[in-house]
Amino acid sequence: MFEDSDFGFRPSLATRNRQLATSSMIAKEFQTDVLLIGAGPIGLEMAVALRRAGIDYLHLEAKQIGHTISWWAPATRFFSSNERIAIAGVPLRTVDQLKASREQYLQYLLDVVELFDLKVRTYEPIHSLTRQGDGFRAISMARGLEQTITARRVSLATGGTARPRMLDGPGEDLPHVSHYLQEPYHYFGRNLLIVGGRNSAVEAGLRCHNAGANVSLSYRRADFDQRSIKYWLLPEFNGLVAAGRIGCHTPTCVTRITPDHVTLHHQGDGKSIDVPADFVLAMIGYEADMTLARQAGISLAAAGDTPTFNPETMETDVPGLYIAGTAVGGTQARYQVFIENCHVHVERIIAALRGAAPPTTVVRAEVTQMPET
Ligand code: NAP
Repeated sequence: MFEDSDFGFRPSLATRNRQLATSSMIAKEFQTDVLLIGAGPIGLEMAVALRRAGIDYLHLEAKQIGHTISWWAPATRFFSSNERIAIAGVPLRTVDQLKASREQYLQYLLDVVELFDLKVRTYEPIHSLTRQGDGFRAISMARGLEQTITARRVSLATGGTARPRMLDGPGEDLPHVSHYLQEPYHYFGRNLLIVGGRNSAVEAGLRCHNAGANVSLSYRRADFDQRSIKYWLLPEFNGLVAAGRIGCHTPTCVTRITPDHVTLHHQGDGKSIDVPADFVLAMIGYEADMTLARQAGISLAAAGDTPTFNPETMETDVPGLYIAGTAVGGTQARYQVFIENCHVHVERIIAALRGAAPPTTVVRAEVTQMPET
């Protein structure tokens, strides 16, 4: 899997960061064959593949490497097994043989960056991506300086969970309301109302209950869908609800959040319930940011902004513009596209960039195969 050149002399991370910073601060116009956007797991896997293929590329990331994983609560473990989220042939092992935690996986991604000496221009968001002649023109912002990049081809790996879905109701902007689970310890001894009814909501409910919070949950349906929630989470959650140790309000919708309670509307009897809440966690899913795809002219489906692309090459309906990773699912109503079934996108794009036939061997799980996540 590795090539000798992958293990050549590598300058220290600090030196490389200095080189990167200096080059991007002085030069304001760059040309490249492939502009790669996004440095999550699949973006990084793509960068390694481009390097191995000897294709000239520039790699930009709006925030830090693996940013969307960084906002998971501390010590959250992946649902996917390690071999399914490992990238670029680099083994992902944990000392306890359990699935990787947020911290272990982030460290792993940084190790991959160092191992392959990947040059990622982090904290450089692109705010404009348009067609220019046969190629593309991107305008980015690096610490207040505008940079222009022209590229023959573009590969988007911008992910599918850029921002939280909103309740869009009164009080959602109050400071004790969040869409991200923080360290469960924060909620110790306090009333916590969680909104949502799938993995994030149920997992947060269990973790915060076990950390000593007084947890209640509001879900808009009468029953939880067993197929949508991990089998190791739902029985424990149901047991705690049956024992009266977690409050469960179904089927209810949030009508109003105030500084000390949440008003729920019961869909069955139409009554209002006020549930005391010092904290509110709206765990109702996340949305993809398809702004760059839209700017560049990719046709997006009305439902979920799902991009149009050729699944054999991952080329979108904008020639020369490829899409990889969970961005291919847009905003997913029911999750089907995960890190673990996106690795094959990289092989397909590399083949297309080289003008080769699409790969016939599928070495990793495909969307059609039941993912573990
Ligand atoms: P999700 O699967 O999209 O579930 C969102 C939940 O919020 C659903 O129950 C949905 O109701 C509800 N909802 C959506 N919009 C709502 C609204 N406007 N008002 C009230 N409720 C609303 O999101 P998720 O649970 O965050 O999971 C996202 C992905 O992350 C999944 O693939 C999941 O397996 C994964 N995940 C992984 C881990 C881990 O690896 N440790 C942990 C958590 C989640 P309906 O059920 O009626 O649609």
